[in-house]
Amino acid sequence: MSTPRVLLSAAAACALVFPWTNASRAKSPPPTEPDPLRPSDARGEVPFERGNADYWIEARLDPESKTVVAGATLRWTNPTGRTVSVLPFHLYMNAFRAEDTAWMRSSGGSHRGITPGKELDWGYVDVWSMQRAVGDTLEDVPYAEDPADPTLMTVTLPEPVGPGRTVELRYTFETKLPRVFARTGYADDFFMVAQWFPKIGVLEEAGGWKAHVFTLNDEFYADFGDYEVTLDVPAEMVVGASGVRVSETTDGSRKRIVQRAKMVHDFAWTAYADFAEHEGTYEGIRIRQLLPEDRLDDAPAHLEAQILALRSFEDRYGPYPWSTITIVHPPKGAGGAGGMEYPTLYTTSNRLDLPAFVRRHLFDERVAGTFTTVHEFGHQYFQGLFASNEHEQAWVDEGLNTMADLLAYEDAYGRGTEDDWVVRVVGHRLPIDAFTRLSLGRRGGIPVSPIDRPASHFPAEVGDYAAVTYSKTAAAMLTLRRLVGDDAFRKAMAAYAARARFAHPTGDDLVHAFVETLGAHPPVESAGDGDTSPATVDLADFFDQMRHGTGFPDFRVRRVSLRRALGTAGYHRSEDGTLVETPLPEDFDEKVDDLPDDAIESVVVVTRPGEFRVPVEILVAFEDDTAETVWWDGRERSVVLTFAGKRVRYAAVDPAHRILLEPDRLDNTRYRRPGSHTDAVPAFLGALAEGIALLVTVGVAS
Ligand SMILES: [Zn+2]
Repeated sequence: MSTPRVLLSAAAACALVFPWTNASRAKSPPPTEPDPLRPSDARGEVPFERGNADYWIEARLDPESKTVVAGATLRWTNPTGRTVSVLPFHLYMNAFRAEDTAWMRSSGGSHRGITPGKELDWGYVDVWSMQRAVGDTLEDVPYAEDPADPTLMTVTLPEPVGPGRTVELRYTFETKLPRVFARTGYADDFFMVAQWFPKIGVLEEAGGWKAHVFTLNDEFYADFGDYEVTLDVPAEMVVGASGVRVSETTDGSRKRIVQRAKMVHDFAWTAYADFAEHEGTYEGIRIRQLLPEDRLDDAPAHLEAQILALRSFEDRYGPYPWSTITIVHPPKGAGGAGGMEYPTLYTTSNRLDLPAFVRRHLFDERVAGTFTTVHEFGHQYFQGLFASNEHEQAWVDEGLNTMADLLAYEDAYGRGTEDDWVVRVVGHRLPIDAFTRLSLGRRGGIPVSPIDRPASHFPAEVGDYAAVTYSKTAAAMLTLRRLVGDDAFRKAMAAYAARARFAHPTGDDLVHAFVETLGAHPPVESAGDGDTSPATVDLADFFDQMRHGTGFPDFRVRRVSLRRALGTAGYHRSEDGTLVETPLPEDFDEKVDDLPDDAIESVVVVTRPGEFRVPVEILVAFEDDTAETVWWDGRERSVVLTFAGKRVRYAAVDPAHRILLEPDRLDNTRYRRPGSHTDAVPAFLGALAEGIALLVTVGVAS
């Protein structure tokens, strides 16, 4: 795979950049300040023994050729009872090597609406050498790209690695960065260096090796470990990277920065001479923002979003374990790098350019930029800390994270309060709930794919991936929360977080956490009074529908009417065996409205056109200003309710808006007497706010 020219430059680069000795490196370097982790009393337990993939990398950026030449040492310990001799590696950057890679074919060469067009510049990673440390010597080991796709490589060891055994590999490689349109690459002199080094797969006890061909919707999966990365860059570059800076030394026109990260499963960095910096802290966590100079005014809004997210996430899912977080704002022309998460570092997107008076009086939004910040930070938990397999179950990080982001907004801004909005148009608010529901799609756009399947099984042409993985998962989980109540939901999610922390959780772990914490059929929480209602949620059924079904809840009030209550008129057999007639009542022919109360009954019919079964509340309001609430288990397709002696005014399904997963609520309320019950102006502004929110959210966040 290496041409003679490349081999020559590889040898030269090794001599220059990697002053390796054969001495083995210490597993735990002596403690330095600052620590990549927070103090133990703030961060909680860290199971260091689970770190089994430690990397030492020395990398040199050449801004002219847009390349990074690097040498790496990987010390990998087999965490399973299996014995292996073939190790799979990801070569993610090769996704951008040619038009016929799996990634390019699955994406059509574009990512979240960004297509490089004529500016396309390929990227690749070329492995120059692979050696194994044996005692004090290094021996070459064979390695080869997967013939099916160059995003995978296998390394074949001369002898197997048994359970608990460690192998140390040394390798050199050149990474050519693409012009950025999909997370990683360069734009002029801005560099976002991610998915850039050959990275070992995950060996699982039950499933064996997990290493996937990289396609459009795939993200990542890796084991925890410690990283020490030396970055050799032009001296004028401002650098942001995973972990904390251990040292920085300048030598003429270049500088060397040493970064260290602990108990993470990836490492990314950015370099750009024109970054301005903005610093903040929260509970001892350093929050560093790198922004283009003309975006510096946005920093406080992003800091506020970052802090509201930290507050909610720490409260609900446990302490943030690392001591730092870096927020990267890609400059103009590098938008393709935005909205992506890496350990202790993420890229965000820009807020809309709106003058302050417009934001104050006419139009304001918390979607562009700040929601991206909340979402990408959220990945520090949902995947950074809870390191699920994003290829096999993308919903476990993207969907649960989106749920947690919306909850962070609700925790910060409240529900039904003046501050409960994501878009505000001339005083009309689009609340967080409406935003959640809106993201599910409308009418023909409702997704039809099940949530729980590998990311590569969502064809780009169908377009369901985001609506299902992010929005449907989030709306389903928030529906469950509204049913069982926040206290119960919080306990179950905390149980999940405890088992997922520094581990590789799956969708089954989520279900088990809920069932073990709440029981198989937790009661539905009644509105307001903290009491429970007679309804219960069948958790196994709920999660099964959520993960494997394709339907949505959809309820409709089909009939709201008044009728004469049937009496006993007609012939009945008497005790002596003869038929005796009871006459019709005097008012038999009266209009039903004119009948006395004891001669009428109200009829309400609710149907369930949607496939998704879920218990639902039905509110029936009467002309005498009383109301009754009935819980329906929602298992059949329809329910008929009658109310003797009562005159119904209207019926409303799900009046407390618990079923956030129901995309269409327009038919959830029906009045007995037709008439206008909506105010046209708020309805118009609401539609406008929805439309704007939809535009603003297009293409946001990974
Ligand atoms: Zn995401």
